[in-house]
Amino acid sequence: METHSLHGVHLTPNVRGLAPSATIAIADRARSLRAEGRDVIGLGLGQSPFPVPECVVEALRLHAHEKDYLPVQGLPALREAVAEHHCRTFGICPSPEQVLVGPGSKELMFLLQLCYDGDILIPSPSWVSYAPQARIVGRHIVRVDTRFEDGWFPRPEAVEAILRRDPSRPRLLILNYPGNPTGTTLEADALDAFADLAERYDLLILSDEIYGKTEFDGRHDSIVPRIPHRAIFSGGLSKWCGAGGWRLGVFVFPPALRWLQDAMAAVGTETFTSTSAPIQHAAVRAFREGPEIDAYLLHGRRILRAVVSGAVRTLEATGARVAHPRGAFYVFPDFGAHAERLRRRGVTTSAQLCERLLEETNVAALPGSEFGRPARELTVRMALVDFDGARALEASRAIGPDAPLPDDFAERLAPRVHEALARIRAWFDALE
Ligand code: PLP
Repeated sequence: METHSLHGVHLTPNVRGLAPSATIAIADRARSLRAEGRDVIGLGLGQSPFPVPECVVEALRLHAHEKDYLPVQGLPALREAVAEHHCRTFGICPSPEQVLVGPGSKELMFLLQLCYDGDILIPSPSWVSYAPQARIVGRHIVRVDTRFEDGWFPRPEAVEAILRRDPSRPRLLILNYPGNPTGTTLEADALDAFADLAERYDLLILSDEIYGKTEFDGRHDSIVPRIPHRAIFSGGLSKWCGAGGWRLGVFVFPPALRWLQDAMAAVGTETFTSTSAPIQHAAVRAFREGPEIDAYLLHGRRILRAVVSGAVRTLEATGARVAHPRGAFYVFPDFGAHAERLRRRGVTTSAQLCERLLEETNVAALPGSEFGRPARELTVRMALVDFDGARALEASRAIGPDAPLPDDFAERLAPRVHEALARIRAWFDALE
């Protein structure tokens, strides 16, 4: 019989056994090992290496005195700036009323999963928090498998097979591209195919485009203009603007989903009340963009490309297979080719592999199993952000936007990332 009290502990069933988010736990672990004097290189937590653009910091300074609670939906000027940004980016021009601002897109996703009464389709792999959020609010999760050959994205046919099972069930598919943990992105034909499925099966899509502006070529494509009436856009300042700790996320809803937006806002009034006022004022500057921000993005993207490409080369030389990232700051190597040699060392799961890498090379990375991959698949997520982003930006600016970065740029400007990859390579090379 289920008891609700275990040794005097009264936990609601949905959160029993819930551990802190894996990304945050690995950062804590790396920090405490460093405190013991170990030279740990952190490839665990995925936060932007770059500083917030100076013009946005200046806007925050100017608004530090703002102290009032704001409307739960967001500061009107910010909702307007987000709507205009959407219009410039996608050619879809929502009204500011369609924008919802929250303390991080993570919080908005939680509210979405709380308010939406349907199944949540989550690709494996995907970002660590979608599934625990669904679990906390008691949503039914349907995992959609992926393959390396498809850049670790689900095939539209696989999604269709799930939708066919019971076409009348309400469902929400989460798509994140460029994606965490892989850095890969969806091509136009895949976006077309998912848009078509959404139309035919009355499917909602949460389009998590938080890494959109980091797409290395600056050519991020989106599903939103294809199905503006069925896709909820999710973005924010955390990744492209280097402001994860500022906690600001935005959703843009189709007018037809006003009921969902209103419900989320109503829950917002009972929980976070409103997003921090100074941060919202500063975010207006970020979403208005302009030459200073364009230059920041251009340099940031090419630095990320250089760092990520260097890592891919080393990992491939190590014998891993790697779907080539197109944005963000992650790589997701699969060390399956070393399975036999690893087994002889007692390593049969990605969690054991990461544990061993941390113990024996002082490199902290996250196992693919944390992202929904099978425990015995030897995939690892590496966040390539342990470098001085301000210095790298300065160096890239000094080179100028038209000259390419030299071949040794990543090695010189991201030496710890380079060192981490070298340690991993040496560790695999030494396996018998
Ligand atoms: N979506 C993805 C794929 C992420 O990687 C993250 C953060 O790591 C988020 C959403 C949440 O970002 P935030 O809550 O900072 O807006």
